[in-house]
Amino acid sequence: MCGVLHQQTLAKPASFSGIGLHSGNKVSMTLLPAPPNSGIIFRRVDLDSRAEIPAQVGNVAETDRSTTLSRGNAKVQTVEHVLASLCGFGVTNAVIELDSSEPPVADGSARQFCKMIREAGIEAQAERVEPMQVTAPIEYTHNGTVISAFPHDGFKITCTSSDNGGRFTQFFSVELTPETWEIEIAHARTFCFYKEIEYLIKNGLIRGGSLENAIVIRDDAVLTAEPMRYREEFVRHKILDIIGDLSLVGAPLRGHIVAVKPGHAANCGLARRILQQARRPLVAAQSFSPPGDKPVKSTHSTHATSSERRNNSPTGLRADHADSAAPLPVPDGGQGDAD
Ligand SMILES: [Zn+2]
Repeated sequence: MCGVLHQQTLAKPASFSGIGLHSGNKVSMTLLPAPPNSGIIFRRVDLDSRAEIPAQVGNVAETDRSTTLSRGNAKVQTVEHVLASLCGFGVTNAVIELDSSEPPVADGSARQFCKMIREAGIEAQAERVEPMQVTAPIEYTHNGTVISAFPHDGFKITCTSSDNGGRFTQFFSVELTPETWEIEIAHARTFCFYKEIEYLIKNGLIRGGSLENAIVIRDDAVLTAEPMRYREEFVRHKILDIIGDLSLVGAPLRGHIVAVKPGHAANCGLARRILQQARRPLVAAQSFSPPGDKPVKSTHSTHATSSERRNNSPTGLRADHADSAAPLPVPDGGQGDAD
């Protein structure tokens, strides 16, 4: 998260129990401290193997209405809200223990996870954080979604979203800090459209859904157990999902994300492209001659991070240019993402 110079973890464990939004299963979740450089790791303590699944985009298995990670035979679905909470507060190392396959939905927002992180406390670690800087524009399109990333010193998200009829069109833009995360985004609840409910139930989704943990939009009416928390609650929740999905790059992002009708498939597609840009080989920097100087040989050849590139560029000029790689295939059900 913007402004965090050192890696951070939790000061002590914190637990919460509830049901999963899509599975409907009972689950206990415990957030635990983790050593420097471990990243965020899910651990399935209900499995004999106590399987661990690192929260990395390479482990994304499904993106239909939520983001599912898997590794071997173990999976965890709907990872985005708890990941957004850790990212929003700048927690870079933690273990998320679950005794089922899905974190608790709580009230459909990230409010409960923020409370857990506050209860646990955040502890700075000695190791510096290595942010992932977007160094050139990247655009990703998927089923009517356009999501782009631009160079920016902080982590900013601008988003607009609407249903196919153009109702409930909302717009929001936020420069993310731990404060704006908690105040402007974290309380926005998940939502779906009434006409989708039959499809979702037939596909084994929203088994734990209710008006206590989701907002349902029916024609021009909004069905909810409590009043709207923000005037633009839907698009703010879309931003919450983007934060969680993009945290799968595995490092705090520096960039401006601009999203039109985002969904998990496109969010994860963009995460892959950002990672791809950060890992691009330093072809142009192999031999660079500033005027009047002898040629400078780069000691790096492959897979330098964006900060390494910045630090090794003798004049501060960037070796990389607009992302020209072909879109990567994204595992996806092809449906819109309405949570
Ligand atoms: Zn969501």
